[in-house]
Amino acid sequence: MASPHAIENPAPRRPRSRWTWNLGRIAGIPIRMHLTLLVLLAWIAGTYALRGAGFGATAIGVALVASIFVIIVVHELGHALVARRYGIKTRDIMLLPIGGIASLERMPENPKQELAVALVGPAINLVIAALIYGGIVVAGGTTHLAETTSLGNALATQLVWINVGLAVFNLLPAFPMDGGRALRALLALRMGPQRATDIAARLGKFFALALGVLGLFYNPLLIIIAFVVWSGANQERQMSELKHAIHGVPVSAAMLRRVEAVTPEQPLEDAAALLLRGGLQQLPVIDHGKPVGVITRGDVATALAHAGPDATVATAPQHAVVEVEPGEPLDSVLQRLEEVPDSVALVVDHGLPVGVLTPEHLAAYVALHAQRRAA
Ligand SMILES: [Zn+2]
Repeated sequence: MASPHAIENPAPRRPRSRWTWNLGRIAGIPIRMHLTLLVLLAWIAGTYALRGAGFGATAIGVALVASIFVIIVVHELGHALVARRYGIKTRDIMLLPIGGIASLERMPENPKQELAVALVGPAINLVIAALIYGGIVVAGGTTHLAETTSLGNALATQLVWINVGLAVFNLLPAFPMDGGRALRALLALRMGPQRATDIAARLGKFFALALGVLGLFYNPLLIIIAFVVWSGANQERQMSELKHAIHGVPVSAAMLRRVEAVTPEQPLEDAAALLLRGGLQQLPVIDHGKPVGVITRGDVATALAHAGPDATVATAPQHAVVEVEPGEPLDSVLQRLEEVPDSVALVVDHGLPVGVLTPEHLAAYVALHAQRRAA
């Protein structure tokens, strides 16, 4: 099986798809599975059956793949728990046919911390491999697959090699895979973060191309991984350029000075009208001068459908609002917005809302700002 995985950063604000299954939580982190993974398991079972393997062999084949995914969950949890030590939350861990993705809210700014978060995953695989290898030796088995006599021994030996394979594959310097991220962190220790990201992203795209070509000949899953690596490298570079463009710029230079907002007591109709009139995606909700939340177009549509136009804003689902000060640098606001999906930043000066900053508006500002810098 082709193997997996990337730490996703920034985690896209994807709507929760119906194609995912909640498997539960570990250490408070939701573990989800994409249903296409069932297709993969069925395909593997089918291949075994077509080869004329009996029920027992087929079950072991499926069990092997299932245990690979357990190992992937442990690998991703490693990333998530080290990130947690640095105060970074993980939205969820998603299992896909190409492997696992831990959606960290952000990566640490400190290269040494980024290095730790990136390397812990492959390190876990090597430890698991060593433990299973030790177990085989203690049990008096062999690690030469051709000489194995028992089914359990064969399974354990395969798991040793799979773990070594996972560690090596993830250590490829194909940014944003673990190895590429570690490389970026090492480069960032010597040069600025932007140049480091630029070099790592170029190398990542080179590896993506190479994986894609290999995939054409050997395994179609590699083509999908190549695509994920390619677009991940692009995204990371754009994010790094964006951070560079807004570095040191205060919120007050970019904010929208007209604050359109609603109160919790206002009818939903008012919120809908304001969103439409202003061409806005979301509105802050302000209660007696105090920001209490953010309501999006989607929230208004859902609430209108369920409760009708006369229901109040308070009855609609809401998102957390990000409160910022006019003098705060834009890069730190961007980071805080990344941590709260669907939010807007409400600029508050001495207790009074004086401006709004939405991700769209921020992007528009950067586009204009970058033009001016280039000119
Ligand atoms: Zn990893």
